Parts: sequence; structure tokens; C-alpha cells
Amino acid sequence: MSQSNPTKIKFFSGQDIPVELHKVRVVQKLHLKPIDQRLEAINKGGYNTFLLNTNDVFLDMLTDSGTNAMSDNQVASMHQADDAYAGSQSFYRMEAALKEVFGKELILPVHQGRAAENIISQTFVRPGHKIPMNYHFTTTKAHMEINGGEIFEIYTDEALKISSNHPFKGNIDIQKLKDLIAKYGKENVPFIRLEASTNLIGGQPFSIENMRQVRKVADENGIMMVLDASLIGENAWFIKQREAEFANSSIKDILRTMCGLCEIVYFSSRKVSSTRGGGICTNSQVLFLKMRDLVPLFEGFLTYGGMSVREIEAMAVGLIETTDETVISQSPSFIEYAVNELSKLGIPVITPAGALGCHVDSMAFLPHIPQKEYPAGALAAALYLVSGARGMERGTISSVRLENGEDLLSDMELLRLAFPRRVFTLSQTMFLIDRLNWLYKNRELIGGLKFVDEPKVLRFFMGRLAPTSNWPEKLVAKFKQDFGDSL
Ligand SMILES: *Cc1c(COP(=O)(O)O)cnc(C)c1O
Repeated sequence: MSQSNPTKIKFFSGQDIPVELHKVRVVQKLHLKPIDQRLEAINKGGYNTFLLNTNDVFLDMLTDSGTNAMSDNQVASMHQADDAYAGSQSFYRMEAALKEVFGKELILPVHQGRAAENIISQTFVRPGHKIPMNYHFTTTKAHMEINGGEIFEIYTDEALKISSNHPFKGNIDIQKLKDLIAKYGKENVPFIRLEASTNLIGGQPFSIENMRQVRKVADENGIMMVLDASLIGENAWFIKQREAEFANSSIKDILRTMCGLCEIVYFSSRKVSSTRGGGICTNSQVLFLKMRDLVPLFEGFLTYGGMSVREIEAMAVGLIETTDETVISQSPSFIEYAVNELSKLGIPVITPAGALGCHVDSMAFLPHIPQKEYPAGALAAALYLVSGARGMERGTISSVRLENGEDLLSDMELLRLAFPRRVFTLSQTMFLIDRLNWLYKNRELIGGLKFVDEPKVLRFFMGRLAPTSNWPEKLVAKFKQDFGDSL
């Protein structure tokens, strides 16, 4: 790996471990409860990690959304927030930060990422439109489809391979893009969407070279480019680490280059700057005016967009901090450590390491569990039982049931273990790896799940499941045999 990673401090012992480049000043007590209480909690939560109370959770690795640690400067900035319905100074500080970091002059504030998607989709997507993208995000797809659009994922052949050493699995396949525009006509393609650190395929980045190729096709056809920048900091970090041309560039220059290639940049601040909120940015007065009037309608006045002024202040500071390599390197370095250690133990994970979290391939982990018994959901429940760590199922439970009553089996069965930015320490990461290792050695004890209460929409959020046999009790018995009365 590159020499320029600030978390990679050389150890006399030769150990290759990431170092936290911050100190902890406010702490929150965690709850690592005895395994019998964890069994009770997961039974009560219907074997769905979304339904656990964090009072019963040790390491909360469900998501990085709204769960990142704030810096002292972010917290301090909240005290200088300027309460005003219109014209708040807080807004102008955020506007200046966005101009500096993304290089865009015109900003529409919104309450979170999906609100930006609502405004962009309502403004530009019409029935019959085709929208090419590297990969969808759940809320993106929903907003485009509700406006009559159809999404097309034109990723490269590498994108869905679990095990790969391709540095940019988030790239768009340029030939597929050209074919798609030729087939449907450029007048039916309102824009091309690029998602930084492609969330649902393992936080995988695209390269600037790929962006430039997309730009060329866009220019040839007079189509605009829209960048989902929710996870842009990490994508910029990977570009610096993996794309030779940018090895000596600053993160700020890389961010400016990325944003400079797109007409519209939108983001969820829940990820990129550790606060609630979001925004849409552009340098085009024409595009700005097309979208502007929807902000007061759905979000709030143009200088707060549904956010509190305190959040706006913290967001401005968080955005600037994204350009600091000692900040933005932390989460990817911890994820890389976890992915490397798990790989060494033979545990199947998505490689190369990406942003957001590490993703365990549950079909390879639990080959004896058929997809219709939800291996990723079963693994999430089993890991919670033996460690108190909760991840998120990203497999068939997160998919849908078809009209014929069968599950639409998902492409991959992943257990996603998110690493919220600067929240967990190395020893906690090592604990997670250790318990996953024990689970892997005892994987034949894990059984499947079945729905007992299945909501019609977004069933993964509220759905309740039950084990297909008494495997959780057997797993608990083996745990006690090996760990005694240790938590
Ligand atoms: C989280 C996310 C969104 C949606 O943002 P919210 O703030 O949760 O509404 C959109 N795109 C990507 C890539 C995301 O990760």
C-alpha cells in the first residue's frame, strides 16, 4: 500500500496496524451483556438487528449514517449557530465551506440525502426516462422510479466479484454507457449518475480516469452528470492511494477535480460530515433555478432547508475536515485492517477493502444454508449472539417477495459491518475479528431463518423472523463450553 497513509506509522516490531490520530474526549458507556441476555434480546427483536435496543448492543455496526464521531471543532461550532429563519450566518458559513471543498457556488440545503434525490428526480426525471449509473442506492432508485424513470446499472464485470484486486470496482462500463444511449436516444437520458464509494457493492470507488471517460460520452451527447457525493471523502482517499496520477495531489484538489467533472453534486451529510442534513450544489444558474422552488415546498426556506442551524454549522466544519488526510484516512484504514485480517483467517469478505464497512460473503460462510433461509440474516443474528456486535443484512431479506410468493433472491448475501468514522478502537476491531473467527470455526452450528411477520414494503426494516430449528441454543451452548462465563 501507499507510503502516504498517515495512519500507517512504522512500528519497531514490524506490526502493520492503523493508528488512531485523535484522542477520545467524550465517551459513551457500552453494554456487553452475558450471552443469555443477548439470546433473549435477539428473540425479542425477531432475529432482525434493526429491532435491537442499543442498550443490548456492544459494537453498533449497523450503519455509518448519522453515527460518526464529531470533532471538537464541530461541537464547538454548534455554539455559534445563528438562529434565523432567513439569512442565517450559519448558512453562509456552510455555503463558503461547500464552495471551498466542492468548488460549487450555488447551494440548495435539504434535510438529508434522499431529500436531494427527491428534488433532483422531480425536476429532471420524466416517465420513460432512462438513467444510467454505476449502481443504485435504495432511496435513489425509489425516487427515480416514482417519477417514472428507469435505472440502468452499467457497472464493469469486476463490480460484483466478491474477491478481486481491482482498485476501482465502482467504475462505469463506458461501452455499456454508449450502447445504452444509442439504444434509447440521448433525449431520453436526463443525466448520468455516478455514486462515489458505491455503497451497495461494498463501498467501492471509481477513478477520475473513468469519470473523464464518462464526461467525454456525456459531452458528445449533451447529457449532464450528477454526482452522489455522500461517500465522496473516501472515494477521494482511494484515488490518492490507488490512481498514480493523483498520488501527490491533496484530497482537496482531488475533490475539486471530481466535482468539477459534474454539473450537479448532491450529498447526505449524515455520512460525509457526521451530522444530519444534505445539499445540492451546482455552478449553473439555470439548473439552480429549475430546482430552487422545490426547496421551500419540501424542505424549508433556502437558508436552512429543514436543518437546524446547529447542524448547518457542524456540517460546514465537517466538510472542511474531510479534506484533512488524518481524518479521512481513519475509517478506510480500519476497514482495510479488518478485511486483511479476516482474509488471512480464510473468512470470505469483499476485496479490495472499500469505504463504509467490511462485507462478509454469507453464502460462502454458510454454504449449507439455502438463500431462501437467509444466510446473511442468520449470520447477522449469530454474530450478535456471540459478540454483541450488530451488522446489517444486505441480501435476500433486504430484497422483495414476488407475486408468485417466492423471494426475489439477491445477487449477493452480505453481512455488512459498518465502521462509523472514528467511533471504534483497534482493540474493539480485534475483538470483532476474533469472534467472527470463532463463528467461522463453528459455522456448521448456524441454521436458517424464516419470516413470522413480513411487512409488504421494505420488509428488512420491521420484519420479524424466527430460527428454522433450535440452532441459536446450540450455538450458545458451544460458546459457553469454549468461553466459560466470559462475556
Ligand atoms: C445514505 C445515502 C443516501 C441517502 O441519504 P440519507 O441522508 O440517508 O437520506 C444517498 N446516497 C448514498 C450513496 C448514501 O449512502
